[in-house]
Amino acid sequence: MSADGNAGFETRAIHAGQEPDKQTGAVIVPIYATSTYAQDGVGGLRGGYEYSRTANPTRTALETCLASLEGGRFGRSFASGLAASDVLLRSVCRPGDHVVFGDDAYGGTFRLVDKVLSLWGVEYTPVNLGDVDAVRAAVRPNTKVIWAETPTNPLLRVVDISALAGIAQESGAKLVIDNTFASPYLQTPLELGADVVLHSTTKYIGGHSDVVGGALITSDEELDAQMGFLQNAAGAITGPMDAWLTLRGLKTLAIRMERHSDNAERIVEELTGHPKVSSVLYPGVAGHPGHEIAGKQMRRYGGMVSFTVHGGEQAALDVVAKTRVFTLAESLGGVESLIEHPGRMTHASTAGSQLEVPADLIRLSVGIENADDLVADLLQALD
Ligand SMILES: *Cc1c(COP(=O)(O)O)cnc(C)c1O
Repeated sequence: MSADGNAGFETRAIHAGQEPDKQTGAVIVPIYATSTYAQDGVGGLRGGYEYSRTANPTRTALETCLASLEGGRFGRSFASGLAASDVLLRSVCRPGDHVVFGDDAYGGTFRLVDKVLSLWGVEYTPVNLGDVDAVRAAVRPNTKVIWAETPTNPLLRVVDISALAGIAQESGAKLVIDNTFASPYLQTPLELGADVVLHSTTKYIGGHSDVVGGALITSDEELDAQMGFLQNAAGAITGPMDAWLTLRGLKTLAIRMERHSDNAERIVEELTGHPKVSSVLYPGVAGHPGHEIAGKQMRRYGGMVSFTVHGGEQAALDVVAKTRVFTLAESLGGVESLIEHPGRMTHASTAGSQLEVPADLIRLSVGIENADDLVADLLQALD
């Protein structure tokens, strides 16, 4: 069957852009391992395809499905989340333009703006995106992009997407939401007024820690055309194998996100009040400062949990070294549970800056294993 825009999320994840193959009936979109396409006479393209940097049917299926899940008209996929970020920024910004983003932005996003786009004459201001007045004050006449993640990494702060959309509309800037942590199952920013959604599909969308990729989804035709131009002109595309793996992951996104959320909630319950734990950061908890906004814009609260321990950095390093089911590793969003120490690992580069994270902080990417096993593993590591 085909999945129109009215079908439920789970149906669209499995069917949108993924009709059975017309020639063979193959139920699963094939891996179109081809660089080029035969033409019937010069310019006589049979299926609209000409060269696989420009377009490839496996990639088209992924892009169509991602657009459907985010409720956007257009989807484009890239070699990584950062390749997508680069295309977005260079599609919208010209030398002399200005970008506003979170003071706890993903480190790679910060590096891209600070070390690459800045050479191109793009200016930026990091700001606390939870403070709407501070965002309004940071916006200048040359601001072209307001860039937000929600929930954020690793402190799981929540940003009010509709409020930022209002500021973007007033100022003429594009609001970009990095929806990597929530996934479209939990949150659809375009419906809340965002102009573009960005994903590292490496994380929950792929979901199995076996492929690196990125995506941009929008309903803005002019912006999509600019992004499509750069996708082809600069060439940081998704190959057909990677597109296929990502599509396979995407089919189970809904049930994975439910289970990630179930397991995370259970772990939050067990960690809260534990004598070795000093605080638990999870937007699903009533005392979390972003709980109310998260409740409005998210279906559930996801699989990322951070917490601090008594005993400082050494105590945190001891815990992350002792888990057996949770693997000590960077990245997130896969079916397997991961644990890490942001201060020494993913966020080591923020040391000494205003983005520095607490030394006693531990971040969990809660997987979909048996919840009792996950809890037992954390409790033995904390003992
Ligand atoms: C991983 C990540 C990125 C970068 O994506 P890559 O696929 O690693 O290039 C961007 N934003 C967030 C929130 C991420 O977690």
